[in-house]
Amino acid sequence: MRCPNCDSGISYYFLEEGGVEEGGEFECPSCQIQLRHIVDEGTYNGAQEKTLEIVDDD
Ligand SMILES: [Zn+2]
Repeated sequence: MRCPNCDSGISYYFLEEGGVEEGGEFECPSCQIQLRHIVDEGTYNGAQEKTLEIVDDD
């Protein structure tokens, strides 16, 4: 996965180490922006779609 803000690679290992759960928020280690780990269940091919989105925090 890549940070949508700075395009830095973020590994699942990093998320596990940081205790980031599905739907959880964490800080990008590269640009320090707040991100959310999104897991989209049940896509057409049965695979989970895992993405990162920027948390809009006004
Ligand atoms: Zn980043």
